[in-house]
Amino acid sequence: MQKLIQGIVDFRKNLTQECREMFAKLALGQKPDALFIACSDSRVVPNLFASTNPGDLFVLRNIGNLIPPATDPSKDNSASAVIEFSVHTLNVSNIIICGHSECGAMKALAQGVDKQCCPNLDSWLKHGETSLRKVRQGSSINPALSEENQISQINVLQQMQHVASYPFIQERLEKKQLRIHGWWFDIAQADVYCYEESIHQFVLIDENEAKLILERLG
Ligand SMILES: [Zn+2]
Repeated sequence: MQKLIQGIVDFRKNLTQECREMFAKLALGQKPDALFIACSDSRVVPNLFASTNPGDLFVLRNIGNLIPPATDPSKDNSASAVIEFSVHTLNVSNIIICGHSECGAMKALAQGVDKQCCPNLDSWLKHGETSLRKVRQGSSINPALSEENQISQINVLQQMQHVASYPFIQERLEKKQLRIHGWWFDIAQADVYCYEESIHQFVLIDENEAKLILERLG
């Protein structure tokens, strides 16, 4: 906590005039480019690896970057509320689901959770069970990866499907008003990959891939 508290003091002390003006402007409203759905993991910091500023990303983070599908009767309201608000009110045109390597949630999915101490975690992880089942049945994007990393990559695609299961999302996808992207963050290399459906691979977002993604967006 000491680092955290000192960080607040340092932030206040070092805030440039330019930054103060940016925050003053942001107080009038937000218009983020995208909804970014990532894991709660402390090592995954979207604003850092995407070099974004306050106001650029509307962020949802939870254990395992999971989204309950629209058809789930017990669906968690907080995740679907974020999707509704970002799409209906903020009018975001891009939703990014970003998984990551060495994800504790994927490990917990594979190994099981102690239901006695963590009943809520156990219940939440059911939104990732299809991803686990798919990998155990032989689905993989990169078989050279560890099992938890293979689950994490398949889980990105699974959660993209969950987001697309909401009728208002489906409608916008059909009208090409919205796109859903699958990304994956490799912690050790600090590299971000983008899922390319045509080759069923996660491709490193370097200058070439960035160009391709932007061209597709039009
Ligand atoms: Zn994680």
